[in-house]
Amino acid sequence: MSERIVIVGYGMAGSRLAAELQARAGDRKVTVLGAEPHHAYNRIMLSTLLAGKIDEPDVELAEVVGHGVDVRTAVAVTAIDRAAGEVCTDDGDRIGYDHLVLATGSRAIVPPLPGLDPLPERVVPFRTLDDCRRILAAARGARSALVLGGGLLGLEAARGLAARGLDVTVVHPIGHLMERQLDPAAGAVLVDTLAGLGVRTRLGVTATGVAADADGVRLDLADGDSLAADLLVLSCGVRPDTALAAAAGLTVERGIVVDDRMRTSDRRISAIGDCAQHDGTLTGLVAPAWAQARVVAQVLAGDDPLVRYRPRPMVTRLKAAGIDLAAMGDATDGGPAEELTFTDPARGTYARLRIRDERLTGAILLGDNPAVGTVVQLFDRGAPVPVDRRSLLLGRAFGAVSATPAASPALMPDAATVCQCNDVNKGALVSCWRSGARTADELSAATRAGTGCGGCRDAVAGIADWLAGAEPVEATR
Ligand SMILES: Cc1cc2nc3c(=O)[nH]c(=O)nc-3n(C[C@H](O)[C@H](O)[C@H](O)COP(=O)(O)OP(=O)(O)OC[C@H]3O[C@@H](n4cnc5c(N)ncnc54)[C@H](O)[C@@H]3O)c2cc1C
Repeated sequence: MSERIVIVGYGMAGSRLAAELQARAGDRKVTVLGAEPHHAYNRIMLSTLLAGKIDEPDVELAEVVGHGVDVRTAVAVTAIDRAAGEVCTDDGDRIGYDHLVLATGSRAIVPPLPGLDPLPERVVPFRTLDDCRRILAAARGARSALVLGGGLLGLEAARGLAARGLDVTVVHPIGHLMERQLDPAAGAVLVDTLAGLGVRTRLGVTATGVAADADGVRLDLADGDSLAADLLVLSCGVRPDTALAAAAGLTVERGIVVDDRMRTSDRRISAIGDCAQHDGTLTGLVAPAWAQARVVAQVLAGDDPLVRYRPRPMVTRLKAAGIDLAAMGDATDGGPAEELTFTDPARGTYARLRIRDERLTGAILLGDNPAVGTVVQLFDRGAPVPVDRRSLLLGRAFGAVSATPAASPALMPDAATVCQCNDVNKGALVSCWRSGARTADELSAATRAGTGCGGCRDAVAGIADWLAGAEPVEATR
């Protein structure tokens, strides 16, 4: 009998695992159960959809799901019967498994404020395609919006709504924006950049309550002030969806605890993506979710008995038109390190580099800095920084040091990561070119580069142009 693999969650991790399994030979029956009524979509691109830069069909994930994979949408798993090796669904079915994979993601946190239970019509969290539809419906004909939460997603939502012509105010309880990625100085520059784009900020003040009716929303603040608007977007963080695992008696801390092979405390059950906690850490990003999906596929297909999930350093980028922001590593940590900063508030520019043992351990680059590609590569590969660091800090050449030595495709080493989300390096793109892929789209289809957050699409296009114009030179490693 073929092995029965059941995947709970048809989001970014679950759909990738299904595609990875489908691409591998073997006799197995894969069933994917997704609570949302949609085909798997690129959740990351909801910010871009909200900003009106793409349409709904553009967010659908291109994962091939066909022969050997049974996808059921709008079906939620309500319980796991570990003794019987079955999951129970909300449509009354019981589905047997030999191996179960939990890819249940996270849920938006709705703060316990008076006025939010039940959620009023004009108050919407920002996590799912349906949330995005509701925000867009409420924004139609609206003149103003409030966003509660000045983290990455809150700012993306705020920028998107401002781009649609709404008067937007972000309310954030901490004294500076994006405090997980930025230091106060960078946060201050970002406030000015946002103001120039029509987004106001209220920092260091907590919300105390919400009142909403057919005419609008009022957000009450702890300093006694109240803000009124046509809609309120909640962006107060996410919480891993661990309820099923906990009810089934699996070990759950902040997330579902997994080992290096993504196995939970029950060897017949794995967990991947936002719901999984590996080595004490939750990820909340797509690159680790997809890397974990590949590990589970390799384990289940028996490809590589030694395969292990190894976390990689992550780079956070804000996807908001008019704001260039990349943050990575321990940029806000005060531990011992060589520290370089440059601030030019008038031009919306801030840069901070932290260097230890000649390697970047963290960086914040806000505003136009041509060295951003180089900084990301040096950080990603743990490569030594140039002797003259000013080129990285300011993005300009000093003396013989090029500002962007690795930004030119010809000079990029083969090992340089081009697509962080899918972990695709330049060498992989060059070898696909040599195998016949001739355009950026073909390179993307062959390697998946550019199919995550989309931030590397220009780089993939640049590499395709360079390959088209020159016989690839032997790159350095
Ligand atoms: C607006 C936005 C922008 C983002 N931008 C970025 C970015 O730029 N870069 C980045 O790396 N990450 C970004 N993220 C985070 C990224 O989307 C997540 O890390 C990624 O989606 C995690 O994938 P997942 O499959 O674990 O979870 P999800 O994509 O959330 O999928 C989980 C799925 O499981 C389903 N499910 C849950 N419980 C059950 C059940 N009992 N039965 C059946 N189905 C169930 C859910 O309905 C959901 O469809 C962003 C997120 C949002 C919301």
